[in-house]
Amino acid sequence: MNSIGIQVLNALKGEINEIDYLRYIKQLTYDETESKSNLAIYRAPNALIANWVRTKFSDKIAHLFEIKTNIKPTVSILIQSASTSAAPAQNQAVVVNTERPSGSLLNPSYTFQNFVVGDSNNFAFIAAKNVSEKPGVVYNPLFIYGGVGLGKTHLMQSVGNVMLAQGKTVIYTSVEQFLNDFSRHLNNRTMDRFKDKYRKCDLLLIDDIQFLSNKNQIQEEFFHTFDALRNENKQIIITSDKPPKKIGGLEERLKSRFESGLVADIQPPELETKIEIIKKKCEINRVKLDREVINYVATIIENNTREIEGILSKLNAYSQLMGVDITIEFARNVLKEQMAEKRSNITTDLIMDTIAKELNIKPSEIRSKSRNSNIVYARRIAIYLARSLTPNSMPQLAQYFGMKDHTAVSHTMKKIQELMKNDEDFRMKIEELSNKVSIATPE
Ligand code: ADP
Ligand code: MG
Repeated sequence: MNSIGIQVLNALKGEINEIDYLRYIKQLTYDETESKSNLAIYRAPNALIANWVRTKFSDKIAHLFEIKTNIKPTVSILIQSASTSAAPAQNQAVVVNTERPSGSLLNPSYTFQNFVVGDSNNFAFIAAKNVSEKPGVVYNPLFIYGGVGLGKTHLMQSVGNVMLAQGKTVIYTSVEQFLNDFSRHLNNRTMDRFKDKYRKCDLLLIDDIQFLSNKNQIQEEFFHTFDALRNENKQIIITSDKPPKKIGGLEERLKSRFESGLVADIQPPELETKIEIIKKKCEINRVKLDREVINYVATIIENNTREIEGILSKLNAYSQLMGVDITIEFARNVLKEQMAEKRSNITTDLIMDTIAKELNIKPSEIRSKSRNSNIVYARRIAIYLARSLTPNSMPQLAQYFGMKDHTAVSHTMKKIQELMKNDEDFRMKIEELSNKVSIATPE
């Protein structure tokens, strides 16, 4: 009879697609000696597989345990020790609690050294760095806002890791955890313990504060926690997807507290920064990609840097499974599906809108007969993308763009293809635009 851990994986096999099973689940071994009824430990051959299983499957695994044993365990995906000798800290990074502990669980790879600085995030980076050097003194609170996957959690945890290494007490929490913790202590009549915990730490990191919106009781509690900490010069760092002013359903006094320190934004990364981030992630995860593949990956991710790890994991798993190197052709092939999904709804109008926005030219100008070089440039790219990404024929495009006939379209196509072949920067620009189109949504 198989151990319970293996039985669960076999049950999971029936619920997920075969490729995912072979790629990830089949690579796991169950640690029978270390696991307990409320703690299931699996080991993965590398950090990528571990991360992937953690984000995609650990909830499912916990659930299947519960069905079989009536106990929902915490599922931990650790890395097999032999392959991780070079990165001892990784073990901590991939311990996952399906219940999400309320204490500080920092990702040890979220450090300032691992953060790539570019124009888009320079300001927030410097602010966080200063805070880590003089916590509670320079900017309190530090409020970091920006879109999904732009590195807010990474930056706030970088401060956490610095202070943790100095033996300080760091709490990292989400609004949800804070709320759960609060309710639990309220029910158990142990509010003094709750207060002790949150008001006596050296650094409080609250991630994604926008979720405080319209939750009145917890806003009240948070307000008092905030004041207590700040009066003691304890550092608070907050992240959000928007600036304080724009968070709806939030008490005015909280908004003004949030604005009383420093508010720093993070913008979407430029292409060069994306490339550097990918290189960094390759280094951390020990994945080898050549320049061409790195550039390609940089063009397919939009602004959400979080996609990078998923893509690297996918490339790595496939190449291990098939025993081949990750070449550009291989990468294109593996990621084709991903792109195809994004590309199914593209129209010429959408292409025009995207290019107009990106190149700062009006759609009407692109379709005009102007010979202005910027406009000609935009028009050629629009034609090229429309031909590559939509089912429109050359005569249809000639009509759309007000050209004589299809030979004019064909001429433009040749011109762009030639440029792409000879000019790597241009090719990347086109790929980037093409991917922008792929993920744009019609207004
Ligand atoms: P957010 O909290 O803003 O949604 P995260 O901090 O979770 O984003 O970042 C998503 C992923 O992208 C993480 O793996 C993070 O390490 C990585 N990342 C984002 N920005 C950078 C950067 N500038 N340098 C290195 N890694 C980054
Ligand atoms: Mg985050």
